Amino acid sequence: MKLYNSVTRTKEDFVPHEEGKVRMYTCGPTVYHFAHIGNLRTYIMEDVLEKYLRYIGYDVKRVMNITDVGHLSSDADTGEDKMLKGAKREKKTVMEIAKYYTDAFFTDADKLGIKKPDVVEPATSCIKEFIEMVEGLLDKGYAYIAGGNVYFDTSKLDEYYVFNKHDAEDLEVGVRDGVEADDNKKNKCDFVLWFTKSKFDDQELKWDSPWGIGYPGWHIECSAISLKHLGEYLDIHCGGIDNAFPHHTNEIAQSEAYIGHPWCKYWFHVLHLNTNSGKMSKSKGEFLTVSLLEEKGYDPAAYRLFCLQSHYRKSLVFSWEGLDNATVAYNKLIEKIAKIDPEDGEFDEAAAEALRARFREALDNDLNTSLAVTALYDVLKYKTNGKTKVMMLAEFDTVMTLDLISAAEKVRAASASAETVTEAAAPTGVDADFAAKVEALIADRAAAKAAKDYAAADAIRDELTAMGVVLKDSKEGTTWTLA
Ligand code: AMP
Ligand code: ZN
Repeated sequence: MKLYNSVTRTKEDFVPHEEGKVRMYTCGPTVYHFAHIGNLRTYIMEDVLEKYLRYIGYDVKRVMNITDVGHLSSDADTGEDKMLKGAKREKKTVMEIAKYYTDAFFTDADKLGIKKPDVVEPATSCIKEFIEMVEGLLDKGYAYIAGGNVYFDTSKLDEYYVFNKHDAEDLEVGVRDGVEADDNKKNKCDFVLWFTKSKFDDQELKWDSPWGIGYPGWHIECSAISLKHLGEYLDIHCGGIDNAFPHHTNEIAQSEAYIGHPWCKYWFHVLHLNTNSGKMSKSKGEFLTVSLLEEKGYDPAAYRLFCLQSHYRKSLVFSWEGLDNATVAYNKLIEKIAKIDPEDGEFDEAAAEALRARFREALDNDLNTSLAVTALYDVLKYKTNGKTKVMMLAEFDTVMTLDLISAAEKVRAASASAETVTEAAAPTGVDADFAAKVEALIADRAAAKAAKDYAAADAIRDELTAMGVVLKDSKEGTTWTLA
């Protein structure tokens, strides 16, 4: 498989450190609020990557942290603690906030078909490991203590700006949000490993350390948690593009300084989901969530398809119209699958191989998910029997996770029951041809409803009304009379 590596800025052949195994790390959510659908775009694309690696035979171990401490509202070690801000807003403790939003994150992720990583580790459960790493960095001369805090000394590195050719001016932009500069830093890109001098008197979570009571900097958690569960050689590190600098840059600095050799080989960054008015941002407080999409009647699977239809290395603009289009495409896809007879014929290995080749070609090329969606339509069009088609769709759905098979089964079952109910429901004394036409339309409407294509269902109802038919929906099905 070829994968774009943001550290070399090229597409490379993916070759893991140990043959057959992939060690994969994902920056997890900061749990002071619900995840927005932009955050979830990143996790959907990472999920496809993980599942595709498994599909092509790798034994994958994926680890994710939960940022429940120490993430300040500016990436430049300044601003307010995001967790504390959430706790104040909701008049709860920081740990209550963390628990609530961690659970909410996994509920939303599950609705979008995102598999839970093999290991999920909250930062607050690894304080011992963070302290060990900070001690190691001090021993090796990569860190210094100033004004009560421990800082990483970036002047000790040969290369600091690994992802972008930043210059001093760019860095100033990064720092600008952060209200005030930190005079303790020897170099302006140095960053905090451990705080004992919190700017907030009411900092809630604190731990004892060799440098006094305090709390860890944000970046140390991913380095230490990854090292704890995945060892000294990481194959893939994932995150949204905003994580590249300074978060991932600082992770590389401290991890490589600590372990003494190159650390992570491939960096996978997902570009942002934006709205017409700009980036979707949790800290701005106005954002779209999975629950909101559901309240508006959208199926989370349609949002997943919306994401899969575009490449992860392009930013994506969210619009309701775009989501409506994805919904129509999703419903049509499911309806088409529902029409295939899964018992038709014997499994056709030659057809399966040809279809697999198309699917793999798409995803082998830097995870081209929109072409992989096309490969699903290729299955529908391919000259082979129903059994092979359904089996191939089920196989590809282990990666795409669009609920293709069970959603189609539901549509099939709904239209079958709609047929039986409506057959029994025709009023007596009506012309047989007319009754057959009405019943066919009622069955189509039931299928459209089952596929959540409410616009199509309403249009059929209007057509029936124009024919002088009055519908009555009940739990048992639909009956009809003439007006
Ligand atoms: P956070 O909860 O803020 O730590 O972010 C969780 C993940 O979402 C990180 O990998 C971020 O890089 C990513 N992310 C943040 N904003 C967006 C966005 N608008 N679109 C896509 N991913 C995002
Ligand atoms: Zn991280």
